[in-house]
Amino acid sequence: MDEEARRVGLEIINVAREMLQSGLVEGTEGNVSAKVGDDRILITPTSMNYMEMTIEDLVLIDLKGNVLEGKRQPSSEKPMHLRVYNAREDVGAIVHTHSLYASVLAVLRKPLPPLTDEFIFKYGGTIEVAEYGLTGSKELAENAVKALGSRAAVILANHGTLCCGRTPSHALETAKILERMAKIYVIASMLGEPHPLPEKVLRDGEAIYEILRKSKK
Ligand SMILES: [Zn+2]
Repeated sequence: MDEEARRVGLEIINVAREMLQSGLVEGTEGNVSAKVGDDRILITPTSMNYMEMTIEDLVLIDLKGNVLEGKRQPSSEKPMHLRVYNAREDVGAIVHTHSLYASVLAVLRKPLPPLTDEFIFKYGGTIEVAEYGLTGSKELAENAVKALGSRAAVILANHGTLCCGRTPSHALETAKILERMAKIYVIASMLGEPHPLPEKVLRDGEAIYEILRKSKK
């Protein structure tokens, strides 16, 4: 693996471990990937303990999914990662989680509305729920990219989340804040009806998100 891939690989491993340790997944659930240059993707392997994972366990693939380097099987969610990279030039890394409160929304198939200022700037609008597709299927990949649109994350029906960022660390931050927002929404909904942000804030927030997104391609 060349210097650039190794640098990205180290960040992927650190992010995968933090994803596990912060409770966004259990065991070998979830996966992490990132772009290496313009046309390669480094992705975590399938069913492997994150704490034992080294750079040699990651799999380097091209944008069509062909394995370029690595001896392990790439994550079974490879089609979903590839579909997002092919649709969104601004996405440099993806973290896929089964985090608890976001999964509550996933099984209810309930979108997560933007309820705080921070949320609208970071995610660009309501986090939609992708129609159900079986884990690892092309159908899931298609449904995920459709519901993701131009936003930073999507909830996967009866499954979990897919979170985007410029780098693995940024995608992890997207996943952590999404989980916190889902928790706020679930708890607030138990106590009453959460108030939406004012219309103007939503419109301005979406516009600012778009400017930031396009400037960071
Ligand atoms: Zn999953």
